[in-house]
Amino acid sequence: MSEQQHRSKSGFETRAIHAGYEPDPTTGAVIPPIYATSTYKQDGVGGLRGGYEYSRSANPTRTALEGNIAALEEGERGFAFASGLAAEDTLVRSVCRPGDHVVIPDDAYGGTFRLFDKVEKVWGLDHSPAPVDDVEKVAAAIRPGETRLVWVETPTNPLLNIGDIAALAAVAHDAGALLVVDNTFASPYLQQPLTLGADVVVHSTTKYCGGHSDVVGGALVVKDLDLAEKVGFHQNAMGAVAGPFDSWLTLRGLKTLALRMDRHCDNAEKVVDFLSSHPQVGDVIYPGLETHPGHEVAQRQMRRYGGMVSFRVTGGEQHALEVCERTEVFTLGESLGGVESLIEHPGRMTHASVAGTDLEVPADLVRISVGIETADDLIADLERALD
Ligand SMILES: *Cc1c(COP(=O)(O)O)cnc(C)c1O
Repeated sequence: MSEQQHRSKSGFETRAIHAGYEPDPTTGAVIPPIYATSTYKQDGVGGLRGGYEYSRSANPTRTALEGNIAALEEGERGFAFASGLAAEDTLVRSVCRPGDHVVIPDDAYGGTFRLFDKVEKVWGLDHSPAPVDDVEKVAAAIRPGETRLVWVETPTNPLLNIGDIAALAAVAHDAGALLVVDNTFASPYLQQPLTLGADVVVHSTTKYCGGHSDVVGGALVVKDLDLAEKVGFHQNAMGAVAGPFDSWLTLRGLKTLALRMDRHCDNAEKVVDFLSSHPQVGDVIYPGLETHPGHEVAQRQMRRYGGMVSFRVTGGEQHALEVCERTEVFTLGESLGGVESLIEHPGRMTHASVAGTDLEVPADLVRISVGIETADDLIADLERALD
């Protein structure tokens, strides 16, 4: 067994530190350098030294990231892209053709919905929305012979609905479709969809994987070699690749993913406890709560329940907006998954584009991405903002 294979069998934290890269044989560099090079000297025509010829096709810093994230998701191969949406588009075109159909979450990430509804649709790909927490409705949305992908997110955004990955995989496979799981909210530390039957994992590495709100990126990890070949071809042919510096930042983030996620979860649990007993707070939405409709499934397929929490305030939209604007430790802003805590009003911010549709979210809803600051400071900040 090579050292690389040995490492792929080791624990999550060990893989996070070591998988995808061996110390550089010439310099001994423990961390992969940022290979800021577009091309590579050939030893004679076609004589490639390390298998690299042009950095759209492959770049050593990106290779290290791709090997690392593949090991964390326990997949066959990983691919790194310029953004989560670039990863999604590349996957769609690797698998689907005009005339095909996909099932997407009825509460999909807004950018994902827009990609299917405004870009892939024009190209001839049809889509149907279905709730990820209802396997029968997902099954009913599948069109036998036409549906190529069943696409789910779990937990979803911002209502944190939970899809049963194993059950959804069975339904997709029965119809000859692939199950795609957008694992951005959970991260590979909390949930490994490929081990539960999914065929492809999608990440916006912008969020927990990168983890420091300093880089935009995306990734795909696939379970089988056939699909890896198709995605690899399209990654090069479409060219939406992650650059070397972005790859380096994301790889640096992944090394501490386990530590960060545990603290995100610790802090989220404490914040949920506080919110649950606050008189100005109505429903608290968190898959770790026994009252959450997806709790049992989440308990089965997730290690812990993540750093995202949504809650409704008494006093309607006005109060929700005030809470978002009054916090000082929680920063008012979109995105999620960084070390710093963020707060936002989905109705007016991330989900403004779905107002008036079936996907509309309650106006008194507040979403927080709980960071890794001191938990007491986060609670005191929310307490001040709610009063
Ligand atoms: C942010 C996000 C995306 C899109 O990723 P980008 O890196 O912004 O392109 C996709 N899915 C989910 C769940 C996200 O949160």
